[in-house]
Amino acid sequence: LPDVFINALPVLRKINEAGFEAYFVGGCVRDLLLNRHIHDVDIATSAYPMEVKEIFDRTIDTGIKHGTVTILFENNSYEITTFRTESGYQDFRRPDHVTFVQNLSEDLKRRDFTINALAMDVDGNLIDHFDGLKDLDLKLIKAVGKAENRFHEDALRMMRAVRFMSQLQFKLEDQTQKAIADNHELLSKISVERIRDEFVKMGLGKGSQAAFQVFLDTKLSEQVPCFKGKKDALSIFPKLNFAPTTEANLWALMIILLKIPTNKIARFMRKWKNSNAMERQVAEIVEFFDLVSAQDPTNFDLFNSNLKTIASTIDLAHILGQPINGQALIDRYEALPIKNAQELAIDGSFLLKNGIPAGPRIGEILTDIKKAVTEGKIDNDEAQISQFLLELNN
Ligand code: ATP
Ligand code: MG
Repeated sequence: LPDVFINALPVLRKINEAGFEAYFVGGCVRDLLLNRHIHDVDIATSAYPMEVKEIFDRTIDTGIKHGTVTILFENNSYEITTFRTESGYQDFRRPDHVTFVQNLSEDLKRRDFTINALAMDVDGNLIDHFDGLKDLDLKLIKAVGKAENRFHEDALRMMRAVRFMSQLQFKLEDQTQKAIADNHELLSKISVERIRDEFVKMGLGKGSQAAFQVFLDTKLSEQVPCFKGKKDALSIFPKLNFAPTTEANLWALMIILLKIPTNKIARFMRKWKNSNAMERQVAEIVEFFDLVSAQDPTNFDLFNSNLKTIASTIDLAHILGQPINGQALIDRYEALPIKNAQELAIDGSFLLKNGIPAGPRIGEILTDIKKAVTEGKIDNDEAQISQFLLELNN
């Protein structure tokens, strides 16, 4: 058993000793059986939140209303959630009403896929009410119960289906896929942020290309920002020889496949509710990619970029099968005499002291100096820059 489980065993025991049931549940059991890395374990219990809080000294009310208490135990924290069912699904989104229940099976029933509805007790006994083990073996994502109903309860599950396909490299069970195709329109009820998080996980999983094909085939893609009517352009993704490995590169690739013009990149990124930082990074990547695709970049172009953006551009060229000499670009970047304005031997105040009046001219001249330095016309020292200024003034 991996350490994350070993460390948590005393937590389960303490709950058991207090007279309640406790199990490892959900993703951690699945990942244990698949031998995948486990970041954290989730614990389900018959104890009510208040009872959990009495068992442990240090607790945090994470989501008491939903039955979740975080407990701190020997330098680790665990989310402990009371067995519950969810009811009163309004608007095809997760319910805000939960009902605590006394047995595990009721709790497992509300879970999305059979492989996510497994539980394990303190002795390592598996509880598998929905043939999740069989589906792990068959590598299938299959809804618990009637798929159609489950997607009506919570339409985000349709995105989770393709996300898990990608992350686990599993196939989608036929009825589950049919139910997604039949109900794809319900995805419009879900907030863009939640769709985006699943989309990114899908796009970066090992099976992203097969999952993306299903995302297109089921028409889920028609219900997400900016993808409607773009099946042909997006169909390139599953056929590429490589897939992106970072979130920024995934967005950049989407923008390139959709042929979104530079002045519409910000709009695209905002429709997907991306952060300003992500928006800037992606715009930089796409612009530098366009530049490199059109011509060999100058040293000044490289100076205006950065290593991260250059690396992303190389990755995108590789994904799209465009021949570029990536190592040469990196070598040239590394060899630049200056990598940013701060490394320049002079600054604006030097220009002022040398008689250039304050105003836009200062910035223009600084740019000329940076160009001359990065392109090797002059060295990065005060004497040569002064000489350059004299010639500029003549
Ligand atoms: P990850 O490794 O991404 O955390 P996970 O399976 O743990 O995968 P979570 O989103 O953390 O996924 O959810 C934990 C568990 O809660 C799931 O395994 C599943 O049993 C249940 N679950 C989560 N979201 C839903 C949902 N929308 N509908 C039904 N069950 C869900
Ligand atoms: Mg999880």
